[in-house]
Amino acid sequence: MGHVRPRAHAAMRGVKAKGGWGVVSTEEAEIHPSSDLAPYAEQRIWDKKDIPALRLMTDAVHEHGALAAIELTHSGHNSTNLFSRIPPMSPNAQALNFLYPKQARRMTKKDISDFRAWHRKAALNAKAAGFDIVYVYAGHGMSVAQQFILPDMNNRSDEYGGSLENRLRLTRELLEETREAIGDSCGIAFRFAVDELKGKDGMQYQEEGRAVVELLAEHPDLWDVNVSDWSNDSQTSRFQPDEAYQMPYVEFVKKITTKPVVGVGRLTSPDLMTKLIEKGALDLIGAARPSIADPYLPNKIKEHKVDQIKECIGCNICVSSDNFTVPIRCTQNPTMGEEWRRGWDPENIKPKVTDQKALVVGSGPAGLECAVQLSRRGYEVVLAESKNKLGGRVLFESSLKGLSAWKRVVDNRVHEILQKNNIEVYKESRLTAELIDELDIKNIFLATGSSWRKDGIGRSRRNRIQGLETINVYSPEEAVENYKDFNGPLVIYDDEQGYLAGVVADHLNDKNIEVIFVTPASVVSPWTDSTLEQKRVQGALINSGVKIICNQSISKIENDKAFLECTYTGTITKIPCESIVMVTERISHNELYDSLTQRNLEEKKQYNIKLIGDAEAPGLIADAVYLGHLAAQNFEADEADIERGMFMREMPSLK
Ligand code: ADP
Ligand code: SF4
Repeated sequence: MGHVRPRAHAAMRGVKAKGGWGVVSTEEAEIHPSSDLAPYAEQRIWDKKDIPALRLMTDAVHEHGALAAIELTHSGHNSTNLFSRIPPMSPNAQALNFLYPKQARRMTKKDISDFRAWHRKAALNAKAAGFDIVYVYAGHGMSVAQQFILPDMNNRSDEYGGSLENRLRLTRELLEETREAIGDSCGIAFRFAVDELKGKDGMQYQEEGRAVVELLAEHPDLWDVNVSDWSNDSQTSRFQPDEAYQMPYVEFVKKITTKPVVGVGRLTSPDLMTKLIEKGALDLIGAARPSIADPYLPNKIKEHKVDQIKECIGCNICVSSDNFTVPIRCTQNPTMGEEWRRGWDPENIKPKVTDQKALVVGSGPAGLECAVQLSRRGYEVVLAESKNKLGGRVLFESSLKGLSAWKRVVDNRVHEILQKNNIEVYKESRLTAELIDELDIKNIFLATGSSWRKDGIGRSRRNRIQGLETINVYSPEEAVENYKDFNGPLVIYDDEQGYLAGVVADHLNDKNIEVIFVTPASVVSPWTDSTLEQKRVQGALINSGVKIICNQSISKIENDKAFLECTYTGTITKIPCESIVMVTERISHNELYDSLTQRNLEEKKQYNIKLIGDAEAPGLIADAVYLGHLAAQNFEADEADIERGMFMREMPSLK
């Protein structure tokens, strides 16, 4: 949410406090205009003017008895300063981490002393804003303190460079000065990335990572330890299925310090959390994503409602919203980011208005979420699914290599449906307009999904590829189901450029299918950059021998050959192509919607029809869940409210 959405930020953090988290922290907070992160919307504490906005958050957190923490950061060459236009600075003169042809200048002694003064002032302002815990930040490869510690980012020959003692000098000063400024009433936390997962080329937990902890063991009041950079810290379940993946790196810390230690790692299982505490690996369980997926996770543990926890699926859609600088969102928790502007809460929804019944057709993520929320509101719900299993697209996608955790979207919801006595579920029930007439339910939510088109129309061309009828063309589902039939190379054509084609390629290659991956994009699955996965996606395909052809669109098929056209020059080359999987675009299933609408017009039926999820507009699973939730919230809402868009906006003050 960052500094641009203070009310939304406060409400979102407030819901986490309400859900039982003991400490609720901000995202990284810029302490000075010389470290601005535009276009990203992070937190900001440049001066006193930021206090009222931050106070909204600390009040919201305190209201529920939790402590509020703030991560004070100056990002060095990770800053962009695209907003402030101040030349960025870091321990060395070097290129910005952000892709922009601009460099950071080397910090002078005066800069270091200014920086310490800014940090101290930010700590005092944080205290004035009501924070209980103030961070000195050296995590994620994103802060100047960490950049001073890392030898490859600090080649100084003064007292701030060279030996580890010297490279740690600044951090030590920050810890001491923060304590001196606000230590009378605030806890001083230190976030430190003990390992960069670069082996000998970076910080290692057995070497300098450990030495840093030894040298500063008793300095902070709280050690918050993780691995860096962000893509290592927030790994997706696709590439890191293990919940406790950070533990091998960080569990030594507790043996060195007497201060409490908090750690993270997409921890969603209460049993595992308990084990980590009992075996002395951690004192406190830290969570970003698990608290996004389920802000009420601690209360559910406390109240022995562990089966009701919405588990993070490790998809990093939350991360993508940060990278797109839009309000946070989450696949599992559609209320995330909507706490203030729509007044949503993951555990509480407004009650029903009347005793009307509702029919939900389709049990993908949209239909399941819609049915669950209508049922929570108290409506009688009928859920019909044409297949013999509930789950829609999630069943297919979670069957693919690396995506098994995604099934939690279905499992968590089906579990809740089974506990409800106001949802009737009908599997193997393909509904037609005639059957719906017989059911005599007026309110109909059509979550009938979508399917992948096979004619080649996609992101880079709006007409079909000629000659496809002469070869075997498969949708992703058909290819995965029939993989045993393939002999010879299989072309996977990705003109969607999202995540699925890359996953299917990895999955089929794992089944010993020879895969040729063709895409008009310049890298494999470019969208996955937003989820911090792109390098891992392409690296995995390269390592497993998939032939990757980028910057080429398929212009036609002839004589079992695909004609590839260079995206930049139009030059044509040919590759053998007898079988192809098309991942280009999806077509919504809205036939049922059309025939019911027709009935309303021609037969004066009074159906109240709402098309939701991929049937309305294909998108992410997160979008489908969100649209299912929105439809359930809007059911029997005031029409005027729905038309107005029904969410509040934060307006800049014109005072
Ligand atoms: P979304 O992502 O929008 O939830 P999915 O494609 O995941 O969409 O799910 C759509 C579900 O709807 C599928 O499980 C499909 O079998 C089911 N479905 C589609 N048409 C009908 C129908 N006429 N009657 C019952 N179920 C249907
Ligand atoms: Fe977890 Fe995905 Fe939600 Fe992020 S968006 S919290 S990774 S389920």
